Amino acid sequence: MTTLTKIPAATIRKAEGRKAAPANAPARVSARANTLRINEIFFSLQGESSRVGLPTVFVRLTGCPLRCGYCDTAYAFHDGKTRLIEDVIDEVAQYQTKTICVTGGEPLAQKNCLNLLNRLCDLDYSVSLETSGAIDISEVDRRVSRIVDIKTPGSGEVDKNRWENLPLLTPDDEIKFVITSEADYRWAVALVNEKKLAKSAPVLFSPAFNEVRVEQLAAWILRDRLNVRMQVQLHKIIWGEKRGV
Ligand code: SF4
Repeated sequence: MTTLTKIPAATIRKAEGRKAAPANAPARVSARANTLRINEIFFSLQGESSRVGLPTVFVRLTGCPLRCGYCDTAYAFHDGKTRLIEDVIDEVAQYQTKTICVTGGEPLAQKNCLNLLNRLCDLDYSVSLETSGAIDISEVDRRVSRIVDIKTPGSGEVDKNRWENLPLLTPDDEIKFVITSEADYRWAVALVNEKKLAKSAPVLFSPAFNEVRVEQLAAWILRDRLNVRMQVQLHKIIWGEKRGV
């Protein structure tokens, strides 16, 4: 299973517009620290989390080691271009918006994502990170709001949950469950109660698109007096299942 996106040296050189160094050239800092494989950058309304509705610049990174059954961004598994982080920063700045969401795929599958997050925070952007919950979040800049999934059995990837991430969460982060069925719902509720997740960070419950009716999930949450926030994907309500929104 892929864990890191490998970038060929020739591709990095092309992104930097430079030729291969001669064999006897002195050692230099690797350009790999400055590049990322980017699937798309676009401007839209945030569709999820407590930031829902805010005009946001999205930076979608290529690659994900998971294969959730409900995934709506499979086009990000492989498609993308290798770009310098400073180029990404320049493009983000053109939107003149302070709210940024770094997403994927699984953005943390590329180690240099940590550098991008750090640079964005240094530039005073308000940054959120959407991550699968399968990869260590301990090195993510603490100025970033981490939106961490917990994969349910219905996702097909429950075995990938990295439980060591949970004690690292703070009230600035959020925990997200995508619910695919009533069995998933019951599993998620048991976990929220057992681990007292709502005391760590706000908990979000989302219905899997076209798998659980929004009215049904709302009824379950109200019936059980759950201390969670139900959310729907605002961008799909506005624009449908489109890319780049
Ligand atoms: S973690 Fe996200 S991007 Fe990866 S397969 Fe699951 S839903 Fe898709």
